[in-house]
Amino acid sequence: MSGMRSFLIAGNWKMNGDSGHIRELATGISSGHEPVEGVDVLVCPPFPYIASVAGLLAGSGIAVGAQTVSENGNGAFTGDVSATMLKDIGAAFVIVGHSERRTLNGETDTQVAAKFVAAQAEGIVPVLCVGETLEEREAGATEAVIGRQLAAVLDAAGIGAFKKAVIAYEPVWAIGTGKTATPEQAQDVHRHIRGLLAAEDEQVAGGVQILYGGSMKGENAAGLLGMSDIDGGLIGGASLKVDDFLAIVRAGAAVRK
Ligand code: PEP
Repeated sequence: MSGMRSFLIAGNWKMNGDSGHIRELATGISSGHEPVEGVDVLVCPPFPYIASVAGLLAGSGIAVGAQTVSENGNGAFTGDVSATMLKDIGAAFVIVGHSERRTLNGETDTQVAAKFVAAQAEGIVPVLCVGETLEEREAGATEAVIGRQLAAVLDAAGIGAFKKAVIAYEPVWAIGTGKTATPEQAQDVHRHIRGLLAAEDEQVAGGVQILYGGSMKGENAAGLLGMSDIDGGLIGGASLKVDDFLAIVRAGAAVRK
């Protein structure tokens, strides 16, 4: 099944950088990147830099996305950014439900599902993050947590919506901690996620890209990307350095060859 799916290597720059650094990062990635069939690349800068990065990466084959989106349409929502605006400035993807947003901004499953729907309504591909905390894993609740997070989106958007969506499995205990899930630990959860979707529609389940996120780097990428249900990575820390990010892209290219 994995032969049918392209990899997506996605950088989540979080709230980092300034104009100079962002320009260096974008131009460095674009000049060092050798496009390979079956390996798609995406970067998600902070809101203020999306438009300029989209301009810098135009024609490079590297897509640009946002890190979150409002669930509302344009209107009286001070400080928020709509999917219409993201589309207007060149964002093709948006991360929704990142664990930092769920934890620090109190985003609920229902709200995340509404963001997913709002993005798709503008033709933006949502990258839906799901994942358990260490406490939840140790309590044996990993599958229940992921099932709940996914069910909220299935209820709001339906299985058909996953034809144009990406899922990122991000164990919270592995994000920014230097602890990575082993390829087998990640594969187990990825297989479970695909199984939940397959119960609704096997064809959709077979096509959806499920990325792994959590301290992915050049050294561990090949092992993770070699697993049959892992279709790429969502990368935080290592996406902030040109060489580290490109090493992961190259690891994906080597697995796909
Ligand atoms: C993330 O926050 O999406 C992430 C995976 O971060 P890191 O790679 O730094 O663990």
